[in-house]
Amino acid sequence: MRTRARKKHGQAVLLTDYFASRIDWKNQSDPLLLQVIPSENEKAGIGVPDFCGEKKFMAADFLIHRYPDRAVLLASDQCFCLCRFCFRKGMWGRPEKVITDKDIETAIKYLKAHPGVRELVISGGDPLTLSNRKIKKIINSFDSLSQLNLIRVASRALTFFPGRIDAGLLSLFKKSRKQFWFVSHFNHPDELGRETLAAVKRLRLAGIPMLNQTVLLKGINDRAELLIDLFSRLAGAGVKPYYLFQCDPAPGASHFSTDLEKSLEIYEELCRYSGVIAPRFAFELPGYGKVSPSPGWNIVKTKRGYRVTSPRKKNYFYPL
Ligand code: SF4
Repeated sequence: MRTRARKKHGQAVLLTDYFASRIDWKNQSDPLLLQVIPSENEKAGIGVPDFCGEKKFMAADFLIHRYPDRAVLLASDQCFCLCRFCFRKGMWGRPEKVITDKDIETAIKYLKAHPGVRELVISGGDPLTLSNRKIKKIINSFDSLSQLNLIRVASRALTFFPGRIDAGLLSLFKKSRKQFWFVSHFNHPDELGRETLAAVKRLRLAGIPMLNQTVLLKGINDRAELLIDLFSRLAGAGVKPYYLFQCDPAPGASHFSTDLEKSLEIYEELCRYSGVIAPRFAFELPGYGKVSPSPGWNIVKTKRGYRVTSPRKKNYFYPL
């Protein structure tokens, strides 16, 4: 993999050769270009820091424990490309932080003390920026935890660097005593190139179940028709569309957030399609966590944002 680092509008840009070759550079509205090249809007830095309130759920240096049944291991803060809408973009530019053996031991100790955690999500940054040697160390360490039923790996490698899904990595997943699930992150049908689909096939042939999460991005994929095309192609490749997320208004990323009302309209349209194709829609509600709207929830638009009432009649606020 060759990576190109440069700056635009004073912001750091990181691109793999593979992803750069997929961009139509003559088209300033190219949906792949808009995901990785900064705009003037980003410079303004408008948004809410730590919108999801993750900091208060940091159980250890590299471990987030927010929901009772699962925990997230932030194995590395490095990524193949920098997505301009990323809610963790506040980490960019800090010295590299990669999990050490001691951090892994601390995480295991914490999980042992919390046996209700049955699922580990290995995330980042992008955990697949780590070497196979490091990933082997992580897998071997968590293999010993009998309370874990499954391990999810969340990565954008299929989009940015499909060659990363190599024989060595697949063999690590296959040899593990845990069931691995791979969670990809595709936002637009143009991301599904030949190399990417070949890498999806390698994962499937290795027996890894696959899910996809998509972020709803203003001006990039905020059309039901386009999303159905993406989800239908993914399902056809054996990847189950799992979540469609509202884009969190992180500082310098809020220009990608669609109005919640519009997101709900798109979701309503998606719900007309088969359950194999249509993912769940979810948004982060400050003070509550991830919400997938269902009949028990009441969402009312006000001047400053949305008043959201939970099925237990508790009120929350989602800013515009
Ligand atoms: S790969 Fe994930 S963590 Fe990295 S910049 Fe993109 S969205 Fe953020």
